[in-house]
Amino acid sequence: MRKKIAAGNWKMNKTMEEGKILASEVVNMVKDELRSDVHVILCPPFIHLTSLHAMLEGHSNIAFGAQNCSNHASGAYTGEISAPMLKSNGEDYVILGHSERREYFGETDSLLAEKIDIALENGLTPIYCCGEPLAVRERNEQTDHVQRQVEDGLFHLSDEDFGKIVIAYEPIWAIGTGKTASADQAQEMHATIRKQITGQYGEETANNTSILYGGSVKPGNAEELFSCMDVDGGLIGGASLKSRDFVDIAKAF
Ligand code: PEP
Repeated sequence: MRKKIAAGNWKMNKTMEEGKILASEVVNMVKDELRSDVHVILCPPFIHLTSLHAMLEGHSNIAFGAQNCSNHASGAYTGEISAPMLKSNGEDYVILGHSERREYFGETDSLLAEKIDIALENGLTPIYCCGEPLAVRERNEQTDHVQRQVEDGLFHLSDEDFGKIVIAYEPIWAIGTGKTASADQAQEMHATIRKQITGQYGEETANNTSILYGGSVKPGNAEELFSCMDVDGGLIGGASLKSRDFVDIAKAF
């Protein structure tokens, strides 16, 4: 059965002190309020990861993830962080292919395929982001766009490796803009992705793949989005910076 997931992408926000406060609030609220079958993943900036792990003792439905990793295992790549480093630090997840990395850092599907491979080789679960820009949606070409990202980034994987992937559909026009895809738009694309996975890897794998929605998810719209048959949770940016909002979103399943 696929997991229900609320993942918080803090992006480049929060000083060390602010991060500790936010994480401890989330941990306490999750402990007191959240159903145990909902998985919470916190993805703070790299430098926060080590100190925030200490807060997690005994909370089995909270895990940590990074927001990126290198496509190389080690070497002369100044400023990069590798998948083996993340795994050795206790991370379980890594977000790959976020639209901000595709846009501002020129990440392509072929580079992302390499990052997916090295993440998996090192026991990390990739959260692979896909999604169309506004101009593509206005031309009604979003299905081709997203299917190409899924195919080029992921379909080189073996059945076994694909079974470890989490996908996040994030229409770029809805990220950080306050505009949310309607529940119908989200469901339509999630069902399309699941059908595409069925064609490549079979029904069982497709039914076991968690597909998250991302793009201005808030406490007020999470319930409607998460009630869609093929929406298995959310990748949450802005609202993950407020503990109350983030946990309320996680409670919306
Ligand atoms: C994101 O960055 O992945 C995201 C979905 O951001 P926001 O929730 O702020 O739209």
